[in-house]
Amino acid sequence: WTTLGQYGEWMFNLVRTSSEGKPQTGISFLLIDMKSPGVSVRPIKLLDGDCEVNDVFFDNVEVPAENLIGEENKGWTYAKHLLSHERTNIADVNRAKRELERLKRIARAEGVYDDLRFRDQIALLEVDIVALEMLVLRVLSAEKSGRNALDIAGLLKIKGSEIQQRYTELMMLAAGPYSLPYIHEAMDAGWQGDQAAAAGLQGFPGGDVANATLAPTYFNYRKTTIYGGSNEVQRNIVAQTVLG
Ligand SMILES: Cc1cc2nc3c(=O)[nH]c(=O)nc-3n(C[C@H](O)[C@H](O)[C@H](O)COP(=O)(O)OP(=O)(O)OC[C@H]3O[C@@H](n4cnc5c(N)ncnc54)[C@H](O)[C@@H]3O)c2cc1C
Repeated sequence: WTTLGQYGEWMFNLVRTSSEGKPQTGISFLLIDMKSPGVSVRPIKLLDGDCEVNDVFFDNVEVPAENLIGEENKGWTYAKHLLSHERTNIADVNRAKRELERLKRIARAEGVYDDLRFRDQIALLEVDIVALEMLVLRVLSAEKSGRNALDIAGLLKIKGSEIQQRYTELMMLAAGPYSLPYIHEAMDAGWQGDQAAAAGLQGFPGGDVANATLAPTYFNYRKTTIYGGSNEVQRNIVAQTVLG
């Protein structure tokens, strides 16, 4: 599940270098040249029809000692720091604000904005996005003044990923059948085309072409509560490190 690994020239890996002590110790941080003999990459097709992630296999790959980052067996310490930045980044408040405006545009165009129950959903989403933005700003401000606030990165990841799933779902509900790509050729017997490649090309007749990727995006975004560490595991981390 290596994101965009099919384009990578280098990757960093956490590799077990010792089996002594706690499982978290004995892991080292290595840079691996993807062109090394024994590295093979197999793209995985996701629900949206696109290949965004890959199986990466290592068969007796040799890595020069100079590719070790930091101290041997301390890889998990470095990884935890990187992961907290990844999780803060996943919160992606800027995208959420932009997509909220897009959701409102689609809802108005499709007439569901006048439905009070639908508008309630948009309002609840907006409140959560504003709250998440405040939380991200608090973390950034604490970091700037030298305090370690990244303990709550898991919380930012949980809230941000759930918000992303909500807006992709609401957009699809608002656009209805127009959220599907229309591929005329798909009706031909034996059609084997690549749906993802065709998705951006045509909207459903009578619909907005830009809406034709809403359903594939909705499917793609099921990933957000899994990647970067699943949300269930983030809840455990927040319970242990923040709530005590
Ligand atoms: C789109 C996508 C891109 C990714 N990109 C990368 C990448 O570039 N590089 C990379 O290294 N990895 C990548 N991953 C892998 C990702 O980090 C893992 O899928 C994720 O951390 C979850 O681990 P897992 O798949 O082993 O699930 P598991 O740990 O097997 O979990 C399976 C289920 O059990 C639950 N579970 C597990 N442990 C507990 C627990 N203690 N308490 C409660 N529930 C628990 C989980 O929440 C989940 O629902 C990617 C994954 C996806 C989906």
